Amino acid sequence: MSENPGPVLRFAPSPTGMLHIGGARTALFNWLYARHTGGTFLLRIEDTDRERSTPEAVAAILNGMRWLGLNWDGDEIYQFARAPRHREIAQQLLAEGKAYRCYATADELAQMREEQKAAGKPMRYDGRWRNRTPGASEKAKSFVVRLKARQDGETVVHDQVLGDVRFDNHQLDDMVLLRSDGTPTYMLAVVVDDHDMGVTHVIRGADHLNNSARQMQILEQMGWPVPAYAHLPLINGPDGQKLSKRHGALAVEAYQDMGYLPETMRNYLLRLGWSHGDDEIISTEQAIEWFNLESIGKSPARMDYKKLDNLNGHYIRQTADAVLTAELVAFAERQTPPLVLDMKVRARLEAAMPALKERAKTLVELLQGAEFLLTDGPRGLDAAAEKLLTPDAREGLARVLPVLEATDWSVTALEAAARGFAEDAGLKLGQVAQPLRAALTGRTSSPPLFEMLALLGRKESLNRLRAYIT
Ligand code: GLU
Repeated sequence: MSENPGPVLRFAPSPTGMLHIGGARTALFNWLYARHTGGTFLLRIEDTDRERSTPEAVAAILNGMRWLGLNWDGDEIYQFARAPRHREIAQQLLAEGKAYRCYATADELAQMREEQKAAGKPMRYDGRWRNRTPGASEKAKSFVVRLKARQDGETVVHDQVLGDVRFDNHQLDDMVLLRSDGTPTYMLAVVVDDHDMGVTHVIRGADHLNNSARQMQILEQMGWPVPAYAHLPLINGPDGQKLSKRHGALAVEAYQDMGYLPETMRNYLLRLGWSHGDDEIISTEQAIEWFNLESIGKSPARMDYKKLDNLNGHYIRQTADAVLTAELVAFAERQTPPLVLDMKVRARLEAAMPALKERAKTLVELLQGAEFLLTDGPRGLDAAAEKLLTPDAREGLARVLPVLEATDWSVTALEAAARGFAEDAGLKLGQVAQPLRAALTGRTSSPPLFEMLALLGRKESLNRLRAYIT
């Protein structure tokens, strides 16, 4: 399917739920390897489970991938649409005697498992139909198609991360390829699709290691080349336990809502299981340049939310003001209800951005810190600002106001005026500046006061300050 002679990678999520953090990391590693090698990155939606697959989940995956900037080559491929091709391969295997019809009933199989359990043996299909021809009575009954897998020797997964992992073939039972209703199983569908898509490298979670051995058995029977495998270590929660809902956000979308930038997520997910010396901050360009399979870690990776916050603070500071403003505007519009910011406010935000972005680790914090710039008019006071604006402080405001009014409305002139006023009154600059800040922004901390006064302009600033004069 690919014109490009380089490696072919794929991400193959099942749309049965959200795009979770583990899936996003798998997608990233595949994408990075494809971009590093100049190969191809394909997206295959494994929607064969018709009951659990939903259009909403497909949309969440595509949106998540787009948000993360993991662009795939060509159109996404839908697995369910390829079921006839999967059946065709099962028929071919049957015709070649490499697969067989198994007429064992559910009751029979349950009994078989009971007996194995009682005898303390591992539970696996015993191959009872492997060499049996159905009689006239069976022919009318339903059957599944099983692979006639090689039973001697071993299957060795030459894993790029874990090294050689060996499986005794007699421990791998004859897997089902087609169910009794003729639908292909996951094992068959994946092998056929990977082959037809020309996939050369399969990078996926370590939970798929067994599947790789089984899929190799099908490849062997088909005489198809075996792709290179790389199984990624699990991701644990901060406490070292398997990552689960109780550790907080699992869906990529939740990270978007919490105000993390896509660059942050790429850097963070990269470090969950891949390293380059001691480097923590790795831009996407560097990641594409450096990515390799050798540096994927073997042991489980651990979520570290503090690290995620610090990285995000870094990328927020790094982002150009105009770009960050556009991100913040889009973020505000995604709030419920949407917060739509007009051109005047956008210009204000961009002008204040150098100071605002120093104080925020997420877009949520950035938006909160910018609240006083989003609308005109006197501000409501938060608890600390309320406490600060004592009757004395308000009286002080009343005295400094005419001084400011008489001043040229520039950062330097305003600051000089406030300093002069403080000196004459025997006050420290902070004693004058803090009430001004509280009245102007409704908060006790904000970007530099005089810059904000200048930014908001004479009329708007005075209007806000007057509201708190008694
Ligand atoms: N669809 C499978 C999953 O979501 C992955 C298949 C694969 O990567 O081979 O777990």
